[in-house]
Amino acid sequence: MAKIYGVIIIGSGPAGYTAAIYAARSNLSVLMLQGYQAGGQLMQTSEVENYPGFEDGILGPEMMEKFEKQASRFGAELIPEDVTAINFSQQPFTVTTDSGTYHSRAIIIATGASAKWLGLPSEKHLMGRGVTACATCDGFFFKGKDVIVVGGGDTAMEEALFLTRYVNHVTIVHRRDTLRASKIMQDRVQKHPKINLLLETEVADILGDHAVTAVQLRNVQTGDETKLEVQGVFVAIGHQPNTDLFKGIIDMNEVGYIVPAEHTMTNIPGVFAAGDVTDHRYRQAITAAGDGCRAAIDLERWLESQGEQVGVENWN
Ligand code: NAP
Repeated sequence: MAKIYGVIIIGSGPAGYTAAIYAARSNLSVLMLQGYQAGGQLMQTSEVENYPGFEDGILGPEMMEKFEKQASRFGAELIPEDVTAINFSQQPFTVTTDSGTYHSRAIIIATGASAKWLGLPSEKHLMGRGVTACATCDGFFFKGKDVIVVGGGDTAMEEALFLTRYVNHVTIVHRRDTLRASKIMQDRVQKHPKINLLLETEVADILGDHAVTAVQLRNVQTGDETKLEVQGVFVAIGHQPNTDLFKGIIDMNEVGYIVPAEHTMTNIPGVFAAGDVTDHRYRQAITAAGDGCRAAIDLERWLESQGEQVGVENWN
């Protein structure tokens, strides 16, 4: 006899935990499949200073620990495993991980987004050995070094500014002649004595056997290549949603973000989506948390409309 949960939440960032807190407090049985890397992108963040309620700021991992404890306090069950398969074609829905298959009346997808990479073989080879996508996690290891940041958006500017605390010099490498970043971030970068900008330039290769020693840069107009000696490569070219598992099942836009059909409900009734997996615009902890709340409320109302009894049930 397998248990049928009221809701299975897939993902454990601010959206997932907030949904778990709301759903568990409304007396639904909640299972959260957190993923092997529980906590999402905030686990790779240092200080979070703009989440209301933490007036002195809080470290990202510490914040996620608090979210997790709050969800547990109201009875949400948490399993730190990745989902390997889903079946949303009939009720109850099923979700499979390495430890088994779980059943539920409703689903919240809160799988978030991940950093994008350049796709160079050398980038993969030197990952963690000078190549990284997180200045806040790894900046400390580049004290007194020369580094590049790749990208022209706000993330790239933010990473470059953050790195100036540690490094000797930052070169921002951007493929176009104009930056995508907001004016205020561009101004800060342009005024900073430790930062220079290389526009219309792309990274052709990352050099080094066991650690990054230089990058091969290519001017996109002329094709001319130059070598720049650096010890670190920070890739900051945006994010992609973690939606591979749902392709062909849940409606998405052309770049893979889930497009809800009605409020937070997807094209499959009973399957909801919240947080960065639906949002390429705001991508903030606070907006993801708000979204998790909306999804939990939407799903409670949907279950009610289906005449479902809230709480733990058993299924033969
Ligand atoms: P983004 O705005 O999409 O910028 C990504 C940058 O990477 C673009 O400049 C893009 O170049 C470049 N890029 C993409 N693919 C590339 C490739 N394969 N090779 C080389 N360059 C590539 O992403 P984001 O900077 O992560 O920002 C996402 C959202 O979060 C934005 O809305 C941003 O405002 C927001 N955000 C805000 C803050 C803040 O306010 N403090 C901080 C971080 C993020 P092109 O310009 O040529 O497309």
